[in-house]
Amino acid sequence: MIPQNDIIMHSSKQTSTWQQQLADVVSGAEQLAQALALPASYVQAAQTASEGFAIRVPKAFLARIKKGDVNDPLLRQIWPLSAENAPPPAGFVLDPLGEAGSNKTPGIIHKYHGRVLLITNGSCAVHCRYCFRRHFPYADNALSSQQWLEALNYIKQRPEINEVILSGGDPLTNNDKRLQSLIHAIDDIPHVTRLRIHTRLPIVIPARITEQLLANLTQSRLKIVMVVHCNHANEIDQEVAACLQTLYRAGIHVLNQAVLLKGINDDLASQVNLSERLFDCHVLPYYLHLLDPVVGAHHFEVKQAAAQNLMLALQGRLPGFLVPKLVREVDGRPSKTPIITPITPISSLEGEYGAI
Ligand SMILES: *Cc1c(COP(=O)(O)O)cnc(C)c1O
Ligand code: SF4
Repeated sequence: MIPQNDIIMHSSKQTSTWQQQLADVVSGAEQLAQALALPASYVQAAQTASEGFAIRVPKAFLARIKKGDVNDPLLRQIWPLSAENAPPPAGFVLDPLGEAGSNKTPGIIHKYHGRVLLITNGSCAVHCRYCFRRHFPYADNALSSQQWLEALNYIKQRPEINEVILSGGDPLTNNDKRLQSLIHAIDDIPHVTRLRIHTRLPIVIPARITEQLLANLTQSRLKIVMVVHCNHANEIDQEVAACLQTLYRAGIHVLNQAVLLKGINDDLASQVNLSERLFDCHVLPYYLHLLDPVVGAHHFEVKQAAAQNLMLALQGRLPGFLVPKLVREVDGRPSKTPIITPITPISSLEGEYGAI
């Protein structure tokens, strides 16, 4: 194991277990500001902004943030700004994906043909300030055993479902034992052939990829796809890289989804570096999402035309397999909606990415 960076506040050099790291997340603005040497003037605004959606940062993630830099691309993902409480612009709503309407059986979100999301629990290791589920009624999706059976029955009764996607929150905040029984239950449904796991844990607490978890995944007859969530190359330190390589060696297909975020990864260099760094770790970029218009996140928005120009520039730099698909989620559509790349830069923004 690679020793954690020394800004971690442990006195011991030993890497703690993932459960300890999950219990030991930083949740106070003051503590965070102190650890990262941020100006004291930032604290009050962060405290107010975090009232609706708490601060939550694992120390392994904190260790990758540059001290004293208020523009650090990782810091901006987790630090609440007063902009979160500003009146939302038109179009920004509480449930931008209309998930409440597709959530008829607790624990199941079924919108697309052949695949369902199974909401395994509501918690995440990290709270990303741009999260589209920041207002999702997770409490209603904490399932009783009876509800679990009903959710599994929902899948059993629909032979057209061949892929189950574990989602959350973050499904890997469940312990290995619980996941094992869940995987067994899904394995027992003959028409399901793929199990997909949408998780940010390999990025924020890489110690989560335990031997037991790998064994549970590789012993199943299901093909396993893991979709991690990483927005910036700086998120991948040596420990994360080692974790992603372990997954690859175990035969798990690892893909990445990112969200296009203003001031964080909306420039050509950040996107090129992210794709290259992912591929160094055997991970392929999958989706680059335009921000879902959720109340409290409008300051992260990159306009569609700027995103399209960025994609055009990215295509000029990278092999096709390292260019993520730019998509937007539109309520009511049968899939994510691809945003087509223009043939030439969109004129109103010409010159913005000078290197096109
Ligand atoms: C994104 C999403 C999926 C997965 O979509 P893919 O295009 O297969 O990656 C499935 N169900 C829901 C409700 C989703 O939001
Ligand atoms: S890990 Fe995903 S679901 Fe959890 S807060 Fe971040 S974006 Fe939202």
